[in-house]
Amino acid sequence: MLAERDDVTLLAGGTDAMVEINDGHRRPQGPVVAVNRIPDLRSWRHDRAAGTLTIGACVTYTELMDPAIATLVPALAEASRTVGSPQIRNAGTLGGNLGTCSPAGDGLPVLAALDATVTLASRSGTRTMPVTEFMVGVKRTAIEPGELITEVTLPVVDGWQGYAKVGVRNAMVIAIASTCVVFDRAAQTVRVALGSVGPTILRCPDAEAHLASHVDWNTMSAAADDLDRFGTLVSDASRPITDHRSSAEYRRHAVGVLARRLAQRAATPAGPPGAPA
Ligand SMILES: Cc1cc2nc3c(=O)[nH]c(=O)nc-3n(C[C@H](O)[C@H](O)[C@H](O)COP(=O)(O)OP(=O)(O)OC[C@H]3O[C@@H](n4cnc5c(N)ncnc54)[C@H](O)[C@@H]3O)c2cc1C
Repeated sequence: MLAERDDVTLLAGGTDAMVEINDGHRRPQGPVVAVNRIPDLRSWRHDRAAGTLTIGACVTYTELMDPAIATLVPALAEASRTVGSPQIRNAGTLGGNLGTCSPAGDGLPVLAALDATVTLASRSGTRTMPVTEFMVGVKRTAIEPGELITEVTLPVVDGWQGYAKVGVRNAMVIAIASTCVVFDRAAQTVRVALGSVGPTILRCPDAEAHLASHVDWNTMSAAADDLDRFGTLVSDASRPITDHRSSAEYRRHAVGVLARRLAQRAATPAGPPGAPA
């Protein structure tokens, strides 16, 4: 149907699409196609040999919080736990978060920090691209007419990873600023991605390079000054705006604090709590 018509609306959990439709911001002109009962899109697989996890577009946040997935990508489970309410987490999907591509989408900084790839399918075949190329701008993606997201592939990284967000309260809140930090012990790299502080998710190459070269990878520790500098470089990399949720100044400050806090959890001499073995 996607190949034959250009007026199809895809629906997964409906937690973004139905809000837009109910608010009158979106009016489907043609058929609404629900994809969230397609078994291929609802499944996930761990390829041990390749060291990757592939997650179907219609896997829900509740499923991402399951220990079977959470032990492989703890930051994604952590981000999923912060999404909406149990009802939203039961219905909302990772593919829907990508489809909407809000800069505040909680799954997206984790995908960006982990260098995830997104696979799109259409009648003419499939194509896979880095998630940072998939996210083109504010609620804009690289999806072409006739395509749908089928899956996301992430590396299973040896090292600490975490996600944190700031909102006006602790639950049912859209992020004012969010950060994912990943320590890759094998590659001795640090990766950081930011949400809600730019038109789309931002990576911070200067901050990543600075901290990676100052972490003691044997003891997994870093000096306070280097963590401070990391936070400052993260703030510098943000491109926030002032809107009804927060000011640009607060957002810039908040991502730096979140990034420093997460990095401190990763780089402690005693070893990171909760890190995968
Ligand atoms: C009360 C409430 C609280 C929320 N809290 C949060 C929160 O804390 N954090 C957060 O990130 N989000 C939050 N959201 C937004 C929403 O839950 C998420 O963005 C969710 O991931 C959307 O997934 P979905 O399956 O419901 O998508 P849908 O609403 O079904 O679809 C979203 C968009 O993606 C498209 N789409 C869906 N599946 C595909 C596919 N396979 N291929 C191509 N396009 C597709 C749809 O056409 C639509 O444009 C909240 C929403 C509500 C209503």
